[in-house]
Amino acid sequence: MTEHSRKRALNDREYELLVEGARRIDDDLRSLEALFVAFVGGRLGLRPGEIAHMTSEWVDWRRRRICIPYHEPCEKGRDGGICGYCRSQSEQRAEYNTLSLAEARLEVLRGEHGHQLSGTVRSQMQATHVAHVNGTLDSDVLERQLRQLLETAATADDASSILDSLNAAARDYREEHSVSQAEAEREMWTAKTETAERQVPFDHNPRAEIYVERFFDRLNGWQRSRQAVNRRVTEALAEARELDTDTTHPHGLRATAATHLAARGIESLALQSMFGWADLSTARNYVAASPENTQRQLQQANTR
Ligand SMILES: [Zn+2]
Repeated sequence: MTEHSRKRALNDREYELLVEGARRIDDDLRSLEALFVAFVGGRLGLRPGEIAHMTSEWVDWRRRRICIPYHEPCEKGRDGGICGYCRSQSEQRAEYNTLSLAEARLEVLRGEHGHQLSGTVRSQMQATHVAHVNGTLDSDVLERQLRQLLETAATADDASSILDSLNAAARDYREEHSVSQAEAEREMWTAKTETAERQVPFDHNPRAEIYVERFFDRLNGWQRSRQAVNRRVTEALAEARELDTDTTHPHGLRATAATHLAARGIESLALQSMFGWADLSTARNYVAASPENTQRQLQQANTR
């Protein structure tokens, strides 16, 4: 399982091809399950673990909302305990709980961010962070050395703003990973975070609405394992034209939903509430990364 791999969001065309693929699956029930995962994941943005653990009791038919509960013990394990998936998620959670801001900053410096830094300054900053992470440099010294390094390359004002944006990027990085942490908690259904519980409207998308209805007409909930959620996506991809089986995965479907809604002008706060993110910056990132959104706002600005 590659929980930390970059989430691969489908564009609108690819998404339609995936839906087409799900319809082509020759077994009726598996086809319905694949369509359900495609819409509930790729348009409503439910987490794969939520899809796997959901029952018909989560659906408020009158208000047309899926109500993700605050806490619900997983009983999908062989002996009625938590399933293997929930167990491995909780192990991951423990791993990410220990990530400090400095460690997150090091990941940012090693990654694709921090373009405003020259190669030399950047590699010196990395070395300083490595020394800190290895325990040979105190936090105070680390901060002082960073500032000195930056001030050799920029004015004091610029140094401060570079440091601010580096810290912001590090918090985003940690946030991105604490999403899978928070996710892990929710997927075990022992979550105590306030954002775990949320209501996801499904009547804004007629096709999603239809497949939620059809799925629960036939089943009380997801009858199979969390792995079967993955398998239905893979099967739909295998049947889809133009797509490969590794084009996306269930986590990518959630990113697909967020990208799709951000492109249609849904604001950060509404996105955050629908997706249950702990931090607004995650929603803002989707909105900021949407070229359609930028384009629309520019067009609106020009008509004034
Ligand atoms: Zn479980």
